[in-house]
Amino acid sequence: MKYLKISNLLLLLTVSFLFLNCTKNNKPETKEDSNTYVIKNVNVIPMTEDNNVIKNATVVIHNNKIESINDSVPSKATIIDGKDKWLIPGLIDMHVHTLSNGSFSQGYATRGSTVNFNTQNLMTPYIANGVTTVFELSGRLGHFSQRDKIMEKSVIGPRMAIAAVIDGKGNEIKATTPVEGRQSVRNAKGLGYRFIKVYTWLSEETFKAVIDEAEKQNMKVVGHIPTIFEGKPAEDLFVPHFGLIAHVEELSKQTNDFSYEKAQEFARLAKENNTWLIPNLSNMVWILNQAKSPEKIQNLPSLKYVHPLMQSKWLNSNRFSGSSPKLIEFFNKQKEFHKQIVKAFKEEGVPILAGTDAGISGIVWGFSLHDELELLVEAGLTTKEALASATRLPAEWLEIGDKIGTIETGKFADLILLDKNPLENINNTRTISGVFVDGKWLDKTKIDTMLLKVAKWNDAHKEKYQWKNRKSL
Ligand SMILES: [Zn+2]
Repeated sequence: MKYLKISNLLLLLTVSFLFLNCTKNNKPETKEDSNTYVIKNVNVIPMTEDNNVIKNATVVIHNNKIESINDSVPSKATIIDGKDKWLIPGLIDMHVHTLSNGSFSQGYATRGSTVNFNTQNLMTPYIANGVTTVFELSGRLGHFSQRDKIMEKSVIGPRMAIAAVIDGKGNEIKATTPVEGRQSVRNAKGLGYRFIKVYTWLSEETFKAVIDEAEKQNMKVVGHIPTIFEGKPAEDLFVPHFGLIAHVEELSKQTNDFSYEKAQEFARLAKENNTWLIPNLSNMVWILNQAKSPEKIQNLPSLKYVHPLMQSKWLNSNRFSGSSPKLIEFFNKQKEFHKQIVKAFKEEGVPILAGTDAGISGIVWGFSLHDELELLVEAGLTTKEALASATRLPAEWLEIGDKIGTIETGKFADLILLDKNPLENINNTRTISGVFVDGKWLDKTKIDTMLLKVAKWNDAHKEKYQWKNRKSL
């Protein structure tokens, strides 16, 4: 058995070498080194804790790493003029739902998915917006294959952290008892998940068992606080090792007391329990937008980058349109309370992470992160704190802070070159002049071409992908 394994390995290695040689021989000789870039005269916003801006810096990128800042310059390199521009780390969206292949109908044994998405088209909106890392909060096996395509470089896309959803009902991983909950965590680990997302319909005992087992399995936990906790004392909500709240609604739905004192109580308990917060303010803004006027989605400029099946769903099967005035009033109150919670968490020093719930109606992958940053600043974060919520801090929570999240020598070259300074105005994160994704440079022209391709494809397939016909796809 052992001998067989070794011979297989040797065969694999030989094949790999053959491929390596092929690529080497076929590679055209270029004067410029296509793997080395020098950004000259750029203002670097490193997003390290002290965040000392380095003016007129020279940044060298080699392969997929930041090789040096203000050090020697290689003779062969592609030069990028960074004069009057600003360099920030690639952004991280900590709450996304990326589409993945699947079926709305029962297929035959070898049929596989009936709705298949072009992975590049799904990823283009992220990277066009400088979102170079995402946290997938409804992980499915399809996301692992997307991540593989990105890692093997057949698709340009963000780094993907993936969480398995465990819930008490529905079609995710279902666990209705503590024993099932613990087994679900171990199964998820066996499948390759590194994170667990707990969901709304877990019982109190199962919720606690899932989190406890995740700790034993060295997996971090993000998610919802089950509705079963409604009306219970606030301290009950903060279970040890529950590491990250997926939306601020998880707190506002537990209480009728929308006072600042209540927000402070949540913040104090979160701090004690080391539970970080994704406010996800975009979510309530979009719920309100849709409740008030369905045209808001129709008029969304980034709608054309959304797959036609989802465009059709968002426009024709929208669960918030037609909400009663009373409900709208309640949403408004919640929205205001959410700002209070963000303020209180900031005061208490609980880390706040940017996440958008991209994929939910109205919240477009990539584009939404800039909206969320704007909302966080409106709620009281400084521009620097808002940027940290989408760079250094999420990298730290994901335990990849040594690889991404700041601009430092040796880190992966995930970078955004901006025309204007985002520390002056957070909206300047939208002034993208180019993006480095894992060391690959995409200038504005290239980004626009990629976006146009997505929009054209979506437009050409509107007839085929109607939400009402999804079962016959
Ligand atoms: Zn979500």
